[in-house]
Amino acid sequence: MLEIQSLSAGYGGPPVLNKVSLSLHPGEIVAVVGSNGAGKTTLLNTVAGLLRPVSGHVLLDGRVIGGWATERIVRAGLSLVPEGRQVIAPLSVEENLLVGAYGRRDGRHAETLEAIYARFPRLKERRRQMSGLLSGGEQQMLAIGRALMAGPRVLLLDEPSMGLAPLVVSEIFALLSNLNRQGIAVLLVEQNARKALALASRGYVLEGGRIVLEGRAADLAASPAVVAAYLGAE
Ligand code: ATP
Repeated sequence: MLEIQSLSAGYGGPPVLNKVSLSLHPGEIVAVVGSNGAGKTTLLNTVAGLLRPVSGHVLLDGRVIGGWATERIVRAGLSLVPEGRQVIAPLSVEENLLVGAYGRRDGRHAETLEAIYARFPRLKERRRQMSGLLSGGEQQMLAIGRALMAGPRVLLLDEPSMGLAPLVVSEIFALLSNLNRQGIAVLLVEQNARKALALASRGYVLEGGRIVLEGRAADLAASPAVVAAYLGAE
């Protein structure tokens, strides 16, 4: 459903992403792991339309979306949960959620908001509170809820575990598994390779802007190169 073909992208200088190809099929959770600066955020931002590809293609359901405006990509069914959550701190929880429905044209805002409150009772309790007052875990839930407000079929997540306690990370990952069972395909970028590969069915290793390994998540998690580079320290 999402096909990334030989994608190169960057910030005007030498490309940060170098001919990256990956795919996400319906029903899948796919992990992209890699260390700091490998290009993970650049990859997601390019797919979500925040950066223009230098070369290569991004296809959603067979249609080329590379170069489209973010709003159009969101309407086509792909939403990004950005690195660092990016909740709008002075706005209330509910206002942040409504931002996620901006541009949605099917009139299902109220219904989706209720579904999100049913899924995240803590967000409902705090819906009038300033988002900046939420805990890190709650802000991550809010960032995911905001992305869900657009009714996506594909969800991209950039380091959702960053800065969160292990128990909260487990809660977030259980949520992703649940969303996936309900039909949302998930592309998960993580430095927490152990957790990401445990959740995903397939994975890719990104190093220096290139895919250096790919395969079944269980095989990657058992591969000596991945263990040495990403799993050894834990
Ligand atoms: P991290 O986990 O630290 O976010 P990452 O794998 O997501 O790492 P990117 O954020 O995509 O990596 O960064 C890849 C490279 O692109 C780095 O060398 C970084 O310095 C460079 N880079 C990132 N953002 C910009 C920018 N706005 N302008 C110029 N260079 C950038």
